Amino acid sequence: MNILELSIHDLAEVYSRKEVSPVEVTKTYLKAIEDLNPKLNAYITVTEDLALEQAQAAEKTIMAGNQSTLTGVPLAIKDLICTKGIATTCASKILTDFVPPFDGTVTAKLRENGAVFLGKANMDEFAMGSSNEHSAFGPVLNPWDESRVPGGSSGGSAAACAAKLCAGALGSDTGGSIRQPAGYCGVVGLKPTYGRVSRFGLVAFASSLDQIGPITRNVTDAALLLGAVAGYDPADSTSAHQPVPDYMESLTRGLSGLKIGVPKEYFIDGLDAEVEKAVSQTIKNMEDEGAELVEISLPHTEYAVAAYYIIAPAEASSNLARYDGVKYGLRSEESSDLMEMYLSTRSNGFGPEVTRRIMIGTYVLSAGYYDAYYKKATQVRSLIRRDFDEAFKKCDIIACPVTPSTAFKIGEKIDDPLNMYLSDIFTLAINLAGIPGISVPCGLSQDKLPIGIQFLSDHFREDLLLKAAYNTEQISEFS
Ligand code: GLN
Repeated sequence: MNILELSIHDLAEVYSRKEVSPVEVTKTYLKAIEDLNPKLNAYITVTEDLALEQAQAAEKTIMAGNQSTLTGVPLAIKDLICTKGIATTCASKILTDFVPPFDGTVTAKLRENGAVFLGKANMDEFAMGSSNEHSAFGPVLNPWDESRVPGGSSGGSAAACAAKLCAGALGSDTGGSIRQPAGYCGVVGLKPTYGRVSRFGLVAFASSLDQIGPITRNVTDAALLLGAVAGYDPADSTSAHQPVPDYMESLTRGLSGLKIGVPKEYFIDGLDAEVEKAVSQTIKNMEDEGAELVEISLPHTEYAVAAYYIIAPAEASSNLARYDGVKYGLRSEESSDLMEMYLSTRSNGFGPEVTRRIMIGTYVLSAGYYDAYYKKATQVRSLIRRDFDEAFKKCDIIACPVTPSTAFKIGEKIDDPLNMYLSDIFTLAINLAGIPGISVPCGLSQDKLPIGIQFLSDHFREDLLLKAAYNTEQISEFS
């Protein structure tokens, strides 16, 4: 048995037949991490002792016949989700020594479910980025081609998943940070509806956009992991009072009756020809499986990048005000008074991209500019949301590319922020609307790089996304 080949649902099966022990599985992963992580840099922290302890507990649970879905399943957690007693750095110098005294709701749920924590996954600092090059702990390499980025900001989670350095992972998505790296690394990434998963214990970037979600090797695992973390949480006032369905029930073959909207605004100049071909072919294959294609329009899509890069930095500038060297995190020791201490802590603690976002955010919220920028952007946001409401009157799901190209080269966009921001052109609008989206592999380029397709649905219809993605997985030529 090749342990590293087993995905989450495979592990559940072999454990239930008692064919392998979670301790052996965990040791195998830890060894793989030891061998590959120095190069790929997918993990910031490897929690070896905790993983072995959890694996031993899982073994007892299985022997006692009390196994649940994630018992003994080794996972990676993006390093901005609080884990009690384990450093949670947000890939920032300012939080390098921050060890939360509590678990986020999702991490608590995973622990209760018996999961094994292999470690904390690398990311762009405070989740701001699209390439994982903005990490205080160095870039992550794409396992498909080490000269390329894995995407961001959940680049470590996606790379770990693709390189089989974990069975599955959690990421977070504010404007594409689950779906874009999943697309670049050939894995599945699901951004749930805003409010579907508790954000308690997720270090805030842009609170009206952030969601935690699964990054997995296949769609079945995404359904399992989403089911394990979703649900109402009194500790997060934005979490929704919505029952969590059994997402496994969505994983059935056949698409008859499903209306798929194809938005013309997502098939534009600048979309890589190979990506276009793979996505269009997948949509065609879905039609052959019984789906009905409907042409739709999302006319305000073209303003999504501009609106997002006002709203997200505005919220970030306010959320990141708390890192002032007083209560926790880095404190600069060089200063002689309080103001100097704030200044030097923040200028030494934050990297260039985070600094840029704080400056943009402060500017667009400042008196005199608020109406022209922030208020306008929130109005555009309403129009974008309305576009989706209209579209979902005509179709059940929307199919479109997840990224305009395959993974780009390390260094290619780092000095050109606008070009970097444009790599999220197909993912940002979804967060502004609060709807869910999934990225699933649908093809390979000539250069042997994965190509993803994205499906979107109305709020709380993750079941439809999983169904579409499951069928894509069965019929696509991705291997
Ligand atoms: N790449 C986008 C940004 O830099 C999205 C990040 C995210 O989803 N966390 O803001």
